[in-house]
Amino acid sequence: MKSFLFKEAILKAKLEALDKYGEAQTRRLIKPIPQKCVVRIIPSMSPSHWQSRLPVDMTALYPDTKPTDMLGGIHKSPYLPGEVVYFKESWRISHHVNGDACPCYRLDNKCQCGRSSLVSSMIFHWHSPLMMPEKYARTFCTITDVKPELFRVKDITSHDFNREGGQTSMDFLYDYDGRWVWRISFKRKE
Ligand SMILES: [Zn+2]
Repeated sequence: MKSFLFKEAILKAKLEALDKYGEAQTRRLIKPIPQKCVVRIIPSMSPSHWQSRLPVDMTALYPDTKPTDMLGGIHKSPYLPGEVVYFKESWRISHHVNGDACPCYRLDNKCQCGRSSLVSSMIFHWHSPLMMPEKYARTFCTITDVKPELFRVKDITSHDFNREGGQTSMDFLYDYDGRWVWRISFKRKE
């Protein structure tokens, strides 16, 4: 199963967006990076593949453009609508009084079954989210929509701003300003 890996502050913002709006978004750079003169990305035959295209009149503007350049590039989203992903978090294995092992999360120091840890989260060594196996996850989401967009910070709608997780997420999105991204929407798995 695929996963989402967010910095902890972003993870918190995404969870809050899911609770408040019923859905959340994340943006990922499109690779390979579409050519500078690309003006649109169009869906191709497969829903997972999108194609960057040069505008038809680009050959007039750029005489060096070869017919093969007209196609631009093929871009595949890392996530697709309908796919289920799990959230990776900082975690450790804790034990209940009866000895049962249960994964516990640094974000709120609760374990997978929902109980709060009785010990401060400060005293433990937490495993990297990178190393979190799916079986220890507690948050699962379904991808509801994936669309390419030329991202402009100043043009983001309040709808998208909220679902990204507000200013916390926006602080990390400035690097994407003026670049082609996948806008990936998701909701909690039912
Ligand atoms: Zn537990």
